[in-house]
Amino acid sequence: MARQRIAVLGSTGSIGQQTLEILALHPDLFEAAVLTARSDWKTLADQARAVEPDSVVIADREFYAPLRDALADLPVKVWAGEDAVAAAAEAGNVDVVVNALVGYAGLVPTVRAVKAGKKVALANKESLVAGGELVMRLAAEHRVPIVPIDSEHSAILQCLSGEVSPVSRIILTASGGALRDIPVENLADVTPSMALAHPNWKMGPKITVDSATLVNKGFEVVEARWLFGLSPEQIDVLVHPQSIVHSMVEFCDGALKAQLGTPDMRVPIAYALSYPARLPLPEDFGRLSLADHPNLSFEAVDHERFPALALAREAMAAGGTALCTFNAANEVAVEAFLGGRIGFLDIVRTIAATLECTENIARPTLDDYVNCNSASRRVAQQLITHNS
Ligand code: MG
Repeated sequence: MARQRIAVLGSTGSIGQQTLEILALHPDLFEAAVLTARSDWKTLADQARAVEPDSVVIADREFYAPLRDALADLPVKVWAGEDAVAAAAEAGNVDVVVNALVGYAGLVPTVRAVKAGKKVALANKESLVAGGELVMRLAAEHRVPIVPIDSEHSAILQCLSGEVSPVSRIILTASGGALRDIPVENLADVTPSMALAHPNWKMGPKITVDSATLVNKGFEVVEARWLFGLSPEQIDVLVHPQSIVHSMVEFCDGALKAQLGTPDMRVPIAYALSYPARLPLPEDFGRLSLADHPNLSFEAVDHERFPALALAREAMAAGGTALCTFNAANEVAVEAFLGGRIGFLDIVRTIAATLECTENIARPTLDDYVNCNSASRRVAQQLITHNS
């Protein structure tokens, strides 16, 4: 089999770095053809030196010159700009696009990859949150597989493997994030460093805050709906503080299948690249010993503590561009929270208020999403400025 040529969009982030680890374990199967980063040109240059891709892209043009100079002695093409990131997703020297970008910025590259017929290994869930209707329509048209890297959705895919009968529901597990044990009345005083201390998963800052608000789980309900063609009522969420059961599927006979493992994103990354086969991974990645985890517990979601989940379901029911607005407002609010400009509870308040003052466009095109994202970000910014 020819080696698969991989574009890693967001190679310097947490998922991107772990993707390169997997590629390095199996040089017979994979080669990194393109690496892209937003602004971390130093890490990108180090990665390019290690894996010698055909090209690298730095999204922020400000860092083009230092990156080019750092790689002057290598036969690596250097590009800059957001559009060059999207162009990398459709390049002729690429078979598979690993989209590990953060936030809305992932949508256009996903769309371009799908239109170019590339298999997409998707860690950027916001592509499906903001633009799921369009992305899935295009994926069906172009017969392109979209394989999830998200651990919950990877678990569901693994549970579905080999099954031919209807699913009655899926159960996404949620750790509850860094703040699940803090009294509800103290949530208003939560600081960024408290929200960033995730108990089980080591991830980038944006998704860690999204986990603390449970916005992330709302996004994952949307993601599951599109990836597996389910109705929102078929997708349940269950709090499971240990993050060992990665998710479950209930079939039409009542049988429940779960996928378990240590919390390690390298497993779902490898599975997305090799699906439906499995890649051997070294034992020192960690093997699950259930004897070390004698108490796996599960509890219903506390909706008073986590209002984001119901709000995401409302936006999903509204359809159109509502979830694009939800996502845009969340990105602005998380940034404001991390910058100390708003409190923790203001994140979800900002999302709700932005949804109330933004127009919802039915049957959106890519341009509608682009316009909705900009307009919603402006509204969210104004709300934050006005209230602080
Ligand atoms: Mg997840």
